[in-house]
Amino acid sequence: MSDYNAIVIGAGCGGLTAGALLAHQGRKVLVIEQGERVGGCCSTFEHKGYKIDLGASIIEDPDVIDWAFQRMGTTFKKEVDLIPVDPAFSAILNDGTKITYPISLEETADAIRAIAPEDVKGWEKYSKKMAGFLDAALKGFFVTPASNLGEVVRLFAKTPSLLKYNSMFFSSYEGVIRKYFKNERIIESLSFHSFYAGLPPALLPGHFAMIPYSEHAGIYYSKGGMIGIPRGLQKCGERKGMKVRLKSPVKKILIEKGRAMGVMLEDGTEITSDLVISNINSKKMYLDLVGEEHIPWMARKGLKSYTYSMATPMLYLCLNYTPPLTDHHTLMTVPMGKMDDYWENFYKKGIFPAEQFGILSWTTKSDPSLAPKGHHVIAVTLAPGPYKLQGTSWDREKPALIENIIKFLSKKYLPGLEKHVVHADLSTPVDFEKRLRSPEGAIYALRQDLPHSLMFRPSARSRFIKGLYLVGASTHPGGGVPTVTASGMIAADLIEKYER
Ligand SMILES: Cc1cc2nc3c(=O)[nH]c(=O)nc-3n(C[C@H](O)[C@H](O)[C@H](O)COP(=O)(O)OP(=O)(O)OC[C@H]3O[C@@H](n4cnc5c(N)ncnc54)[C@H](O)[C@@H]3O)c2cc1C
Repeated sequence: MSDYNAIVIGAGCGGLTAGALLAHQGRKVLVIEQGERVGGCCSTFEHKGYKIDLGASIIEDPDVIDWAFQRMGTTFKKEVDLIPVDPAFSAILNDGTKITYPISLEETADAIRAIAPEDVKGWEKYSKKMAGFLDAALKGFFVTPASNLGEVVRLFAKTPSLLKYNSMFFSSYEGVIRKYFKNERIIESLSFHSFYAGLPPALLPGHFAMIPYSEHAGIYYSKGGMIGIPRGLQKCGERKGMKVRLKSPVKKILIEKGRAMGVMLEDGTEITSDLVISNINSKKMYLDLVGEEHIPWMARKGLKSYTYSMATPMLYLCLNYTPPLTDHHTLMTVPMGKMDDYWENFYKKGIFPAEQFGILSWTTKSDPSLAPKGHHVIAVTLAPGPYKLQGTSWDREKPALIENIIKFLSKKYLPGLEKHVVHADLSTPVDFEKRLRSPEGAIYALRQDLPHSLMFRPSARSRFIKGLYLVGASTHPGGGVPTVTASGMIAADLIEKYER
């Protein structure tokens, strides 16, 4: 008799969704987390009265997360105090122009008209196309397994309307955006979203060009910080007996005769279970926790060939003034071509300049209770950060980078900032790796291009270890809070199908 029916390694949103759903299937579930709190990349920590989000700062596509809660007899809105974010974002362009994108499509058309009347038609065509694609993607692509050719064929058979959009899968983000928009300032304002999926516009597959549209379907922040979302999932699981054990790193997955039998923690404790669900980086999980000796050589070669996704350094700022911003999200953008140049000439060469582009997430705009009265928090998502810096290290550069980035932000985006920083910290790719054990600080686990998608991404049901299932960013459908929640539903469905 095993100690548990299912052990989930990692309390990220994917792991908690799977754990909670399995508990609702009547299974005895243990979620084991190495960190001191739940949520992984979607979490919130405290610093002297300030609540700061570690990574994720909003969610799009709330319906997907709602489906997970509905399966547990409740709703997303009942379990998590959600704050609607509107406008979706503002973009401050490199030349200083500001464009604000309200949630309303019509108001967005007006905002585009004020800058580029020639692109209003393009916006209307783009939003119509993306509305259809998003609907098909949510119902089909997101929540259907895609581990092998058969499953991919079934995915498209279940949602044939997806086929109408297949040219986007073979185009680039840049190609799709340029098809609809001509004005370089509008194009720039829609460029940074390509890093929401982890690659620059020229390299990211075109279907991700739906991201700027999908924000108009509604985006939300969680009151009290983004940790509210994983906590909501945790609560639902705990109602059905799911246990969550923190500060307990898993060292090994126990394998006997090709079957996962439980886990061994770093302190040597062994816990047995009928099933193991991994929510951690799948390349690391297979190569380190399972061990190469249990993996067929072809699969080993395949696993080693996976590229980790990019890392994103975050600058956390606690302030004693109201920053001169208007919205929850302000994108600091550069022209689209410059993002591709940055990737080739800075990121790939290990250079991280203080002159930055990225997102200013002014979370206290949506929820003032995150900071003492009159104080504010901004989490700055910076440009992609190379894991290794050329000729130096992140630890060595950190103090100077904090100072120089604050100076840069003060000068270009946030006048007065320098005088009002009560506390500043930079989470580098190396810090993310230490904090979350995500190799190289990868924010979406594995790259999100075609060779890492669908049946090429590690399979939700392990192909070579029985009783081992995968959830989270490194399996289909990939990174992002709604998407990893979808992966939790996929794993729970597969387990219900194969493990009764
Ligand atoms: C900086 C940043 C900004 C982002 N912004 C957004 C956003 O605004 N909106 C959005 O939707 N998405 C955003 N994302 C992406 C999104 O947050 C992630 O894709 C998603 O939360 C990942 O969930 P996951 O289930 O894959 O697990 P993760 O969040 O990766 O969690 C995995 C968990 O496993 C634990 N773990 C690792 N190794 C072990 C071990 N050996 N033993 C036990 N536990 C272990 C880790 O501590 C962690 O808690 C962002 C990500 C980052 C990093």
